[in-house]
Amino acid sequence: MNKHDLSKLNLEKIEFYNKHYTVEVDRPLIDSNLIKLSDKNINERKCRFCGKSKFEVTFKNRAHAIPEFLGNKSIITMNECDVCNQFFASEYEDHLAKWFGPMRSLCQIQGKHGTPKYKSEKFVAKKGDKGMELFVKADSTLMNLNDGGSGNFKIPVEMETQPYIPIKAAKAFIKAAVSVLPEELLPECEKTILWLLNKANVNFDKFPVFYAFTPGVNPYKNGRAMICKRKSIEMEIPFLWFIIATTNFLFQIMVPFCKSDSWIKFGTENKFNIMYFPTPFTEKYETKIGKTVWYQDDWASNIPIIQNREASFHFDRIEEKHLNKDRTT
Ligand SMILES: [Zn+2]
Repeated sequence: MNKHDLSKLNLEKIEFYNKHYTVEVDRPLIDSNLIKLSDKNINERKCRFCGKSKFEVTFKNRAHAIPEFLGNKSIITMNECDVCNQFFASEYEDHLAKWFGPMRSLCQIQGKHGTPKYKSEKFVAKKGDKGMELFVKADSTLMNLNDGGSGNFKIPVEMETQPYIPIKAAKAFIKAAVSVLPEELLPECEKTILWLLNKANVNFDKFPVFYAFTPGVNPYKNGRAMICKRKSIEMEIPFLWFIIATTNFLFQIMVPFCKSDSWIKFGTENKFNIMYFPTPFTEKYETKIGKTVWYQDDWASNIPIIQNREASFHFDRIEEKHLNKDRTT
């Protein structure tokens, strides 16, 4: 990809991140070989979280550094014991899975795997021979058909998540961030780990989670997991960003309680200007397939909630289909 193919906004973002951050981790979620992350002292294999060694706990489970439902097939951590693995799966990852579930199934309809079908009163989406087929009634107000040809439209899909607890879902992301973190950065996250183990209780007023949706068929292909570290000591922007790009989504989450983030007062609202992470999509892609849309969520709540989702689609072609010979709609 040529740099000149990117939009001005994306170039500004790239400049910002190049100036203020270094990329500490950059790995694909799907690789031909397993990526086994391991701390240096393999003879005394230790859990990054509880700190116990192979003499105290077992390491029998294959511990995914990032949950599989986020598209991670390849990154395994050797430093997560079975007890912690089980705890994170049931306590945190289950909540993130419930939140991500409906969006994920819709992306799979767009993608190549499986043939799920989504049906609501307003439309039916299923996988056809040449891609996704979407059925709406002729009198539907969901899309403006005057232009013919191709275009984009947004469906206010009444797609509900299962009840999930936002702060627990956030912890699933942070656990994944700590799993992929380079060993030398672990001392930065001592408090983060205590918080993950419920050994430090904090009630957040705000826990910001940023994510972007990019239309198209699996635009992020094999996915990516990244850790970006702030260069300057005193600049008041987060010290560590955790980035996951998978299917149509890019998640950007700050790792809380880093030692170098003493400027942040946790538990209260903090103000810093967020510059969203750049995306790899060209201007041509954005014009043809659709623009990336960013969302800002607050995941501080520790009570279960249900979220309604919205989805947007690009279509190449509109066809009229007569469902019934007697009708001429
Ligand atoms: Zn452990």
